[in-house]
Amino acid sequence: MYWKRYTSEERSSRIQKALHENVDFTNYPSLGYPASKLDGHVFYDDAPFLKDAPILQTYVANPNHIGCHTRGTSVSSFKGTQEMEREVLRVLAEDIFKAEPGAYDGYISPGGTEANIQAMWIYRNYFMRTHGAMSHEIAILASEDTHYSIPKGSNLLQVRWLNIPVDFYTRVIQTDKLDEIIADARLGGIRFFIVIANLGTTMFGSIDDPDIYSNALEKQGLEYRMHVDGAYGGFVYPFSNQRSAINFENEKISSFTIDAHKMLQAPYGTGVFLCRKGLIEYVLTEEAEYIEGMDLTVCGSRSGANAVAVWMILFTYGPHGWFEKISVLQMRTNWLCGQLDKMGVKYFRDSFMNIVTIQAQYIPEDLALKYNLIPQKHAEGNRWYKIVVMGHVEVDDLSAFTDELEVYLKAHPVQ
Ligand SMILES: *Cc1c(COP(=O)(O)O)cnc(C)c1O
Repeated sequence: MYWKRYTSEERSSRIQKALHENVDFTNYPSLGYPASKLDGHVFYDDAPFLKDAPILQTYVANPNHIGCHTRGTSVSSFKGTQEMEREVLRVLAEDIFKAEPGAYDGYISPGGTEANIQAMWIYRNYFMRTHGAMSHEIAILASEDTHYSIPKGSNLLQVRWLNIPVDFYTRVIQTDKLDEIIADARLGGIRFFIVIANLGTTMFGSIDDPDIYSNALEKQGLEYRMHVDGAYGGFVYPFSNQRSAINFENEKISSFTIDAHKMLQAPYGTGVFLCRKGLIEYVLTEEAEYIEGMDLTVCGSRSGANAVAVWMILFTYGPHGWFEKISVLQMRTNWLCGQLDKMGVKYFRDSFMNIVTIQAQYIPEDLALKYNLIPQKHAEGNRWYKIVVMGHVEVDDLSAFTDELEVYLKAHPVQ
């Protein structure tokens, strides 16, 4: 609906327009800001190359996107680039994750960690305010393959994390264990659950079926809210699996994390948080009175140039261009899996993802080091190594690795 491919002139003039609508520190008096454009002694704002690089101009102009711009009013000095942030969120929420028009709030966060913590913070407060819950009556449910930002948030928010085991080979949540853990938690006084379903785990790219959680909790008549952590897979899975149902059409799902600084290759500082309307208010900080608009985010100041950078990537590719890019990554991943199959090497891969996680007994340590494979554990007892097929990982690179692996395995067959 909103996502298109723009020419470089169209992109440039959109950005110029936005910068023009922002406050102009150079030409107009603005006395009250603890902010300005980047330091002119260090970052030249009249360098000739800036003319052709609207994204660098945005960095120099240094807009502050503090706050949340999908709701109420915001700091009016940066309204031009805030509008571009809204355009990014609209593409993500409505075009990719199928929200109803305008039925969501969100922001570009410093990363996936914050977006996940934002979600858990909202739900913890929601259960406290609307159900009078105490923090020891709330628990986070997430699989053992979940990113460490979840235990981090559990520690910060003082809400217990219940770690759900997965099957070693398929990385699928063990539903019998899940039922047991929920039942035990109930006996221990837990009445409310914050579910984190993974749309691509960091180590395996495995996808949690959100229905496993909703069925297990509804079967026991329990209250829950569900967040989807798509930091890794959010820009892959909806394109590789055109029939994906992990989006806002599933009414059990209330929010998403999607990192632009992973698969989208945006600059760091471009996580995305999205949630249904009516939720983000639970983290309102009323004391933030000097900020025009409402303070609804974990972070305070954040760069508007990050929003413009994500906008640039989305509107340079357009939906078809992005689909093609993901399709190429899928083909390369398929190629790699084909080679591993021929050698009898065992690995995990979700068929819609670009991550291949190989059982460690097939990989000698020096080969893992040489090709920068990532171990599941940087310690004794590591059982997996992963390969992430990114844009820079071409079939030539993969085949250099598989050729060496083949030679090694001929000399050292795995029983
Ligand atoms: C990387 C990652 C995060 C955290 O993201 P940062 O942007 O590094 O804070 C969260 N969840 C998953 C699944 C991730 O892969």
